[in-house]
Amino acid sequence: MNHFIITGARVFDGENPLGIVDVEVADGKIARVAGDRPEGVDLVDGTGATVLPGFIDAHTHTDAESLRQALTFGITTEFDMLSIPERMIPVRRKASESSDLADVRSSSIGLTPADGHPHQLRKGEGDPEWPTATRVAEIPAFVEARIDEGADYLKVLVEDGHLFGSSLPSLAPELVAATVREGHARGKMVLAHAMTVDTANQVVGAGVDGLTHLFFDRPHTDELIGKIAAGAFVIPTLSVIASITGASAGASLAKDPRVHPKLTPEWLDNLSGAIATSPRENFGYALEALAALHRAGVDILAGTDAAHLGAPGMAHGASLHDELRLLVMAGLTPTEALRAATSVPARRFGLGDRGRIEPGLRADLVLVAGDPTTAIGDTLSVRRVWRGGAPVSQSPLWT
Ligand SMILES: [Zn+2]
Repeated sequence: MNHFIITGARVFDGENPLGIVDVEVADGKIARVAGDRPEGVDLVDGTGATVLPGFIDAHTHTDAESLRQALTFGITTEFDMLSIPERMIPVRRKASESSDLADVRSSSIGLTPADGHPHQLRKGEGDPEWPTATRVAEIPAFVEARIDEGADYLKVLVEDGHLFGSSLPSLAPELVAATVREGHARGKMVLAHAMTVDTANQVVGAGVDGLTHLFFDRPHTDELIGKIAAGAFVIPTLSVIASITGASAGASLAKDPRVHPKLTPEWLDNLSGAIATSPRENFGYALEALAALHRAGVDILAGTDAAHLGAPGMAHGASLHDELRLLVMAGLTPTEALRAATSVPARRFGLGDRGRIEPGLRADLVLVAGDPTTAIGDTLSVRRVWRGGAPVSQSPLWT
C-alpha cells in the first residue's frame, strides 16, 4: 500500500496538535496534510486515534534486533551514542535497506581512557581493542578515524565511575577541548557523557553541543543551567538515571499488556531489572535539574540509553514511552514531551527529512489510540507504524 490516506485521526505534526485532518502518504513521503481529499485512494481509519511523526530515541546503543524491536513501538530512528564500528557499519547498511528496522545514526566509538567508562560494563563482550587518544596531538587522527568509520557526530565520555559504584580514570579536560575543536573544524557535533555537576560544567565550558545525560550527583547550580542555556541541548535519559538510582518503572512497564507481547523473555527480564548503584534521592536531583533546564529554554531531547542485554532497566522501544512519561513528571507538558521525541531531535541533529508531519518529509508515522497531547501514556497504545510509508508488522517479534 504505497498510496493511502489516514482519515479521522487527530494529528500531532511534531510541533503542535492540528485537530482531526487527513494525512496522505504517497511513494514513502507525506503528500498532503488536510485539504481536499482525492478520489480512489485507500483509506486507513484513524478514528479515536492520533497520528504522530515516528519517534526518535536520541540515546541508545543498538544493533539490528534492537532496531527491529524499537520500530514496533513506533520509534523510527535511533541515535546510537557509542558502538563498536565493526558491528555498527553493517547494522547501518541493513537499516538503510530494510523497512522492518528503525533507521540509525551513530557516533561510532567514543573517546574514553583505555580503562575508562564504559569498559567496566563490557567485560566478556569480546570487543576488539578500542581506539583512544592520550595526548592532544593524537586527537585529529582520532577524529578523522571516527569520521572515516561513518560517525555522524562525535562522543566524549567524562566519567570517574562513582555513580556506578566503581573508580575509573577520567578523560583529561584538554582532550575534551581538543575533540570539540577538531570535530567542529570538520563540521561534526561533539556530544558528552557527563553525569555530575562538575563534569557537566567542564564539558559545557569546553563547548560541546549537547549532553547525553542529565547530571544527578547533587543539586544543580544556576551557573551550570545558565551555561547550558547559551546553546547546548540535553538528552536527559531519565530512564537510565531511574535505573541507576533504583527508581526505575521497568518492572511495571514489562507487565503492561502493550509491552509484554512485543519483548522476548530476555528483554522483559532486562527491562525489569535495575542498575541501582546510586542513592534514590539522586533521581530527585535529576528531575529538578530538568525542570530548571526547561524553564531556561534549553532544548530537551528524549533518549533512553537502552543498550544491549545486560544494561538493566531499559528496553529498546518500550523505554522511550516511559521516558516521555518521566519528562512530563519533570514538568514538560505532553506536547513538549512529544516535541522532544520528534521535531526537536530532528532539528538539533540536522535531519530535515523527518520529525514532523509535513508534505515532502519521510512518511515515518505512528498511529496510537487516544490522545497523547493530553494523556502522554497513550503513546504506548500503538495501532500502526509506517517507516518510509511501508507498514510495520505489529505481531510479536519472537514467536
Ligand atoms: Zn549511553
